[in-house]
Amino acid sequence: MIYTDTRDKSVQVDFRTAVLNGMNKSTGGLYIPVSFPKLDAGFINKTPVPNFREIAVNMAKPYVGDEIPEGDLISIINDAYPFLASVMPLDRTSYVLELFNGPTCAFKDFGARFMARVMSYFNKDENSPLHILVATSGDTGSAVGSAFHNVPGLDVTILYPEGKISKIQEKQLSTFDGNVRALKVKGTFDDCQKLVKTAFTDEELRAKLRLSSANSINISRLLPQSFYYMYSSLVVRERAWGDSKIDSPAIITIVPSGNFGNLTSGLIAKEMGAPITGFVAATNSNRTVPDWIATGEYNARPSVATYANAMDVGAPSNYERIISMYSLEKVRELFASYWLDDSGIIDSIKHCYEKTGYTIDPHGAVGWKAWYDIKTGAMKNLVDGVKNDITKPGLTPNIPAWADKVVNNQAVGIILETAHPAKFGETVKQATGQSPVLPDRLEKVMLKEDKSIPMDNDFSKFKEWLFENLKA
Ligand SMILES: *Cc1c(COP(=O)(O)O)cnc(C)c1O
Repeated sequence: MIYTDTRDKSVQVDFRTAVLNGMNKSTGGLYIPVSFPKLDAGFINKTPVPNFREIAVNMAKPYVGDEIPEGDLISIINDAYPFLASVMPLDRTSYVLELFNGPTCAFKDFGARFMARVMSYFNKDENSPLHILVATSGDTGSAVGSAFHNVPGLDVTILYPEGKISKIQEKQLSTFDGNVRALKVKGTFDDCQKLVKTAFTDEELRAKLRLSSANSINISRLLPQSFYYMYSSLVVRERAWGDSKIDSPAIITIVPSGNFGNLTSGLIAKEMGAPITGFVAATNSNRTVPDWIATGEYNARPSVATYANAMDVGAPSNYERIISMYSLEKVRELFASYWLDDSGIIDSIKHCYEKTGYTIDPHGAVGWKAWYDIKTGAMKNLVDGVKNDITKPGLTPNIPAWADKVVNNQAVGIILETAHPAKFGETVKQATGQSPVLPDRLEKVMLKEDKSIPMDNDFSKFKEWLFENLKA
């Protein structure tokens, strides 16, 4: 597969270059495959539905081409995914896709674990380690740390703002040993990010150490997220009649979004033939994308803090990929958009719990409320001409091409549940009165020793530390 650049279509690189560079430094653009090949119809229409790893291998194949032979790709996928994504019915026309079965209990495990193994594969012939530097405000760091832990040839240094992340998040970051370590910086997330960015541009450091990043714009994190869209849409297509008694319902996927990497992966799956009719772009109060879809004007803005904090993004970087794939008109046909403020998030967790018995996390809660409202009247009102004010939470005034399917009760929804509710126990308890039970792997991490290393917010000290502690 050839990869081009969202800002310069004359760029053509291979998969290895796209993965190891992360982004195109000379244009500031993001890598994107030149095409999204359709999966074989025989494969997509198999009954029973192929298993998750089989789907993963078939979907990854065209993107790695002959750069990773099939046998090696199968090993990478098997090693990356000892866990699965699970489809759970909530009511006749709603499913949740649980994406928290990985080691850090958030969907980012799917992308980060594939990326780590692909980077290790491409680094195997080098005789020096590749040093990954990552600044985190919480969730990304733990997914990356866990994904790269004990992966040969790779070494990870995580920077996080001391005192500004949750107890669970800090434990998840600071208790690694071996090739992964965490520096707790006396500063903010932006300070951490600045230290990392400065390191990447420091000639002396670059001459001694091979440095790379692992952030969410890397194409090798986006591609594997498309696997679970394909898998879940095939599973739901197969079982939907039994649950809903609707003949061939339209499948709508509801995606709680921040940086819009996850939703972009959904678009890739649809291009490859996943039976998904449309998407709901669901956000918290950081409603840059819903506003864009409603008004046609894109205005990035500073992020605001919410209960669904992994979605606190005011300038989503994958917007650039979305507009390189589709026109605004096409986006408006495919997407409904919806946003929810903090009190709406609490209400939604409570509502989902009372209606279905299911404990949903604050991110998934945005998706639950979006789908519930859409199918119980919000879309009908919109079609009938009653428009919601875009500055108020709710469905934004855009009528997608699939609106009539929902209005006529011919649709089912898949809500992506992006994190385990126990990661946000206090918020969930505030809503339901019950503390979610910690899964075993989170409980174990809480008992581990904190090994974080204190670091001043000072580039020369950071640099000195890197020279003294990282192997060339
Ligand atoms: C990162 C994250 C999101 C947002 O995903 P994007 O790809 O940035 O849109 C949603 N929920 C959780 C729990 C996350 O960690």
